[in-house]
Amino acid sequence: MDTEKNPWPPLVHEYPIDHQDDFVQHGDEAADEIGPLEAVRIRERQAKRMDSIIPVMGREGANIQLNLYRGRTVAVFTSGGDSQGMNSAVRSVVRMGIYLGCRVYFINEGYQGMVDGGEHIAEATWNSVSDIIQKGGTIIGSARCADFREREGRKKAAYNLISRGITNLVCIGGDGSLTGANTFRKDWPGLLEELIKDGTISQELADQHPNIQIVGLVGSIDNDFCGTDMTIGTDTALQRIIEAVDAVVSTAQSHQRAFVVEVMGRHCGYLALVAALASEADFCFIPEWPPPSNWRDILCQKLSVMRGEGQRLNIIIVAEGAIDRDGTAISADMSPFWVTCKEGGHPSAFDRILGCRMGAEAVLALMEMTPESEPCVISIDGNSMVRVPLMQCVERTQAVQKAMNEKDWETAVRLRGRSFQRNLDTYRLLTKLHPEKDNLSGGHHFNVAVMNVGAPAGGMNAAVRSFTRISLYHRCTVWGINDSFEGLMKGKLTELKWSTVTNWVMHGGSFLGTQKQLPTAETIPKIAETLKKFNIQALLLVGGFEAYHSTLILSQHRDKFPELQIPMCVIPCTISNNVPGTVLSLGSDTAVNEICSQIDKIKQSATGTKRRVFIIETMGGYCGYLATVSAIGSGADNAYIFEEDFTVEDIIEDVRVITQKMEKGVQRYLIVRNECANKNYTTEFVQQLFAEESHGEFSTRINVLGHAQQGGSPTPFDRNMGTKLAARATEHLMTLMKQQFDGKNSANTPDTAVLLGLNGRRVVFTPVAELAEETDFTHRLPNQQWWLKLRPLLRILAKHADTYMTEALEDSEGEGI
Ligand code: ATP
Repeated sequence: MDTEKNPWPPLVHEYPIDHQDDFVQHGDEAADEIGPLEAVRIRERQAKRMDSIIPVMGREGANIQLNLYRGRTVAVFTSGGDSQGMNSAVRSVVRMGIYLGCRVYFINEGYQGMVDGGEHIAEATWNSVSDIIQKGGTIIGSARCADFREREGRKKAAYNLISRGITNLVCIGGDGSLTGANTFRKDWPGLLEELIKDGTISQELADQHPNIQIVGLVGSIDNDFCGTDMTIGTDTALQRIIEAVDAVVSTAQSHQRAFVVEVMGRHCGYLALVAALASEADFCFIPEWPPPSNWRDILCQKLSVMRGEGQRLNIIIVAEGAIDRDGTAISADMSPFWVTCKEGGHPSAFDRILGCRMGAEAVLALMEMTPESEPCVISIDGNSMVRVPLMQCVERTQAVQKAMNEKDWETAVRLRGRSFQRNLDTYRLLTKLHPEKDNLSGGHHFNVAVMNVGAPAGGMNAAVRSFTRISLYHRCTVWGINDSFEGLMKGKLTELKWSTVTNWVMHGGSFLGTQKQLPTAETIPKIAETLKKFNIQALLLVGGFEAYHSTLILSQHRDKFPELQIPMCVIPCTISNNVPGTVLSLGSDTAVNEICSQIDKIKQSATGTKRRVFIIETMGGYCGYLATVSAIGSGADNAYIFEEDFTVEDIIEDVRVITQKMEKGVQRYLIVRNECANKNYTTEFVQQLFAEESHGEFSTRINVLGHAQQGGSPTPFDRNMGTKLAARATEHLMTLMKQQFDGKNSANTPDTAVLLGLNGRRVVFTPVAELAEETDFTHRLPNQQWWLKLRPLLRILAKHADTYMTEALEDSEGEGI
């Protein structure tokens, strides 16, 4: 491909990634309390620092032409330890490669397959990656390879690649594998010279392939790689850990036991720390922050105080590589109830979607590289796909290890990033035995209240627990409002104590009780009366669109009701993810996981049956987030949503594609339809149309997933996001109350009725009055929705008709889901 023909605009340089953060969209990078302008300045200053990792924005969401890079070759391999989501990445590399017109090769068994060649290097087809997205591990095998560490091994690998015309590699592995890939790229010209000298290859062949280009995807379950917010496999590992912890909790409680749970992480405490937050663990031992050598005494002392106060169970999480400050391992002799977690199984929805996004971006990055380009890693920065320099990330990762080797714990934690630090701080705060005097409340004793509004969603209870404990820590009296505004009107408030909220994090639903009614002209005076009666000085609302809308209504009545002139904050919590002011609401991760797992079962139910089309209806009101993201995560063929117009012709077009695919041997086709996608083209209508047009070639079944989509136990992501957002909201409310108390601020201004949302890597408070301007109240949607940029990827990976010309379809041998 002639680079002059490259259709892309120049790459845009982003602000630097400052070490890894925790979950995607969880970063605490800057702009919340200090304001966006100052945040930009800080980032610019960071960019000037020599060691800053500066990403460039990827091409996600762009209009990508079919066969743009016809004739090029790409190979993909997985290396090092396997991680869940690798299959999704492999599928995406293959399908994006084929879409762009490339020949795509698998290299089986990692570098060993590259060195051994032969049948280990095989051409991939569209079909060869069918039905793998939901599978754990890696279908192309992974291995550690001593031969590749030697130049002779790399020379063999170079021969095996050049003889097949392969000069573009996607390496999916950890920092070792990526370092190896970088060495290989540097050695390439020398290796070719040696091969010419040996007479193994011709000068002409070498001249045709003077360089090899490398793009890395980080597959690593312990999230130990600097330069990306999340690595492929971490989210699944956390889910497995939490399942194991939840399972031992009931036994521990019945028998009043203390369980010790060991999780992976030889050099990185991320899994242990985040699992501790998500499971309300009482202790957590991680390599970056070792306890003093007398930790056993401290542990026993604290446990006996807890038992004395009536606590029936204790959970202690230990990272595999945890040590004390003397360097002695924290060992299994600590307790007879020692559980070692094995991470594996089906990939989580997040890891599947991450694999899809990263794989596609990797191929595009490779195609755009020039001989001068440095190898890059595809990272997720907030909710964007970015490209970062590979070796800089590897070096930063190694610097953390160096700091730990030198027992420089402060540096190790700092290098892990602000969000790691915040996880550590939040964990320590929430596990304190007794509230302490602090400086945020300035010694005042405030009355604060919390309520849930709207339908229940994963993470609601976690947010209430975190708010309660942190408010108690700040010496507040905390009131839980039962049954939303109806309860508030009737004065149904319960005082929440430290122990009231014990064990709340792991549970779905809403312990406070939640309803959808908005405040009205009739109810507002009664609401004001109760607030006055209980002397409530700040209010946290955790809920969906109704929580946001109610806050707006209350703030609009402040002039008439001085009782409403108190700081209010909304934490968006709804499976639909339809609240403005945030890219993601609490509960939607749990729902997407639940939907993907239901779809896996539905797909499986068709095994052995003949040609079947499934139409799966998801919730979400008018918001197509759940339908789109679940369709990508489950490998569905299409998703009908309200935000993207579709007509009866589009549905008939689907029938045509289904028929065509089925003629090529495909047995299943899967369409996800959002419940309000179109009021006339209902799920039943689509089924009937399919029945009519199929002429008996396939049968169609409907599955309306319904309320099961709320999921059972919340995912670790929702538990932690609930915990951390509520911690942040509490601090904000404390500051506002104190200002109000000191007469420095009135609570009748827009910035005292806010919504706390995620914007990329930042956590942002936005006045609800401001958000009203960017809201479609009729359809209960934000005017701008970032995830719409994922729609082209859905079509490309499913080979849908409007991304493929008929000619391309005929080229292929048919496909499956
Ligand atoms: P994990 O996170 O699972 O440990 P990793 O990619 O870091 O994954 P490693 O065992 O370090 O796992 O590396 C995998 C393979 O990559 C090695 O077996 C070796 O073949 C290759 N490799 C690693 N480091 C180098 C290097 N410096 N030079 C050449 N090859 C290397």
